[in-house]
Amino acid sequence: MCGIVGYIGHREAYPIVLKGLQRLEYRGYDSAGIALYDDKNLKVSKTKGKVADLKAKMESELDSTSGTLGIGHTRWATHGVPNDVNSHPHLSNSGDLVIIHNGIIENYESLKKELTKRGYKFESDTDTEVLVNLIEDVIAKEGVKLGKAVQIALNQTVGAYAIAVFDKKKPNEIVVARLGSPLAIGVGKDEYFIASDASPFIEFTNNAIYLEDGEMAVVRRDKGVKVRKIHDDSLVDPYIQELQLNLEQIEKNNFDHFMLKEIYEQPNAIKDTYRGRLHAEEGIIRMAGIDDNLERFLNARRIIIVACGTSWHAGLVAEYIFEDLARIPVEVEYASEFRYRNPIINSDDVVIAISQSGETADTMAAIKLAKEKGAFVFGVCNVVGSSISRETNAGAYTHAGPEIGVASTKAFTTQITVLTLIALKLAKAKGSMSNTDFHMHLQELETIPQKIEIALQGNDHIKEVAFKYKDARNCLYLGRGFNFPVALEGALKLKEISYIHAEGYPAAEMKHGPIALIDEEMPVVVIATRKGHYEKVVSNIQEIKSRQGKIIGIVTEGDTSVRDLADYVIEVPDTIESLTPLITTIPLQLLSYHIAVMLGKNVDQPRNLAKSVTVE
Ligand code: GLU
Repeated sequence: MCGIVGYIGHREAYPIVLKGLQRLEYRGYDSAGIALYDDKNLKVSKTKGKVADLKAKMESELDSTSGTLGIGHTRWATHGVPNDVNSHPHLSNSGDLVIIHNGIIENYESLKKELTKRGYKFESDTDTEVLVNLIEDVIAKEGVKLGKAVQIALNQTVGAYAIAVFDKKKPNEIVVARLGSPLAIGVGKDEYFIASDASPFIEFTNNAIYLEDGEMAVVRRDKGVKVRKIHDDSLVDPYIQELQLNLEQIEKNNFDHFMLKEIYEQPNAIKDTYRGRLHAEEGIIRMAGIDDNLERFLNARRIIIVACGTSWHAGLVAEYIFEDLARIPVEVEYASEFRYRNPIINSDDVVIAISQSGETADTMAAIKLAKEKGAFVFGVCNVVGSSISRETNAGAYTHAGPEIGVASTKAFTTQITVLTLIALKLAKAKGSMSNTDFHMHLQELETIPQKIEIALQGNDHIKEVAFKYKDARNCLYLGRGFNFPVALEGALKLKEISYIHAEGYPAAEMKHGPIALIDEEMPVVVIATRKGHYEKVVSNIQEIKSRQGKIIGIVTEGDTSVRDLADYVIEVPDTIESLTPLITTIPLQLLSYHIAVMLGKNVDQPRNLAKSVTVE
């Protein structure tokens, strides 16, 4: 987690680093800090709180924010509470070296003990302060330059990191390194940018080097970038990638929040997901990652899906779709459980790993484990070039564009779209679906963006429902079949941004426990679309009604039965059963969004969360 930014060149670093931190704030936001060097003085300012607090502090505290070298950090604390002292950047004991760090140095305690014996003092509780002093100690002991010292020090660490460090006595270079946390170097003309992702520098350059795990780089103002392997010192020829990102994708435009913007982006995001892949008229799905490995999929004994959070919910939807359409057995696992529970994995298993960021630490570890055991691993990621996309044997991007709101929305629906395309492709190849059914699915999938547009038109009505239930302390979400995972996702959305306790359940399971919670205070959101065990769900609604629960029904346009029973209904367009999750998700996203806004919560940066979970 956390965002890091750096600049070295001929422009003023402060506005670039500050803006960059604002763009990366989704990655961590419990504290922030910036260090600037202006040819004479090192200025370090840091504070608990948001980047806006840091800006206010710097502009009142410092005489000047000038300097053409700067680094900045927005923190998601792992070691030490969020406070001013634990915030980054951290200085070495001499005050010469300045570091920012994303990740965890796992053996920091033993290193700290050693350094303490050698006279080093520590102000903070962080692992990061240990690392910067370890680098200083290497310089003192071995008389090497900063780059070499960073390399020697990192070879003594266990853990994960993306770091940027400079020496105020040699202000023409920044040394960066990565293992397990992303790091990009933006390459301009005699200027370089450093960041956790490309968003901080996209208006300055389209050229970027993405460091691979285990690589470090010395970035010199006048002499360019030298990349080498941390472990064996071998030089690496850096690949300069041309970025496709544009500024509009990472700005809020006219929306109040990124989350709302991203909810509204879903029709286009889904079109981008299936563009070039779905050819409804010809009745073809083209996906290179599947086409090239078709036999592997067709001969798979089973598919194991590993993921975390919202991606895990997309995996559950996929389980229903794969089994229903392609008749392949599927298991869905939390990556964090899978990797530690000695799972049985065979060489004829296919593992599908789902991650928006492509950096999720537990999912990454699950992939490595599955590969060791000989399984074929397929990645479904959004961020192009991410660690997971590189580590997997093959994959498919969701092409949803940057997702900045911490609560995932368009990543979820585009993941389901990709997984549906895969299931349909396999179903066709296996002959487990009739031709007519296959064609109907393709044509229907093509209409989903338009149907989501219609679902979005319910926004004002959903806002009214949100107003009615915003003060609830608890909330239940029920769904059956394909919509059971949507109930889980709806509950998660509400929890994460409004802090209202919510649970998702298969509607029929309610009788086995949760029904005890129902009283006149309890809102129950029931997904009751016409396709999908409708009568059974209506019976479940009756059961809630008999116990005075408040019912919010997500129903198919024109429904009357649920309308008669429910306190509110939210209508969505009709579609075939396996595609309903793509539509029923939309009102649940809007409902949680409006409730959180009405409660005055920080929708894009909910407390305690961060966007990509790069720690285990
Ligand atoms: N482990 C470091 C700390 O707690 C870095 C955490 C982060 O990635 O923000 O300060």
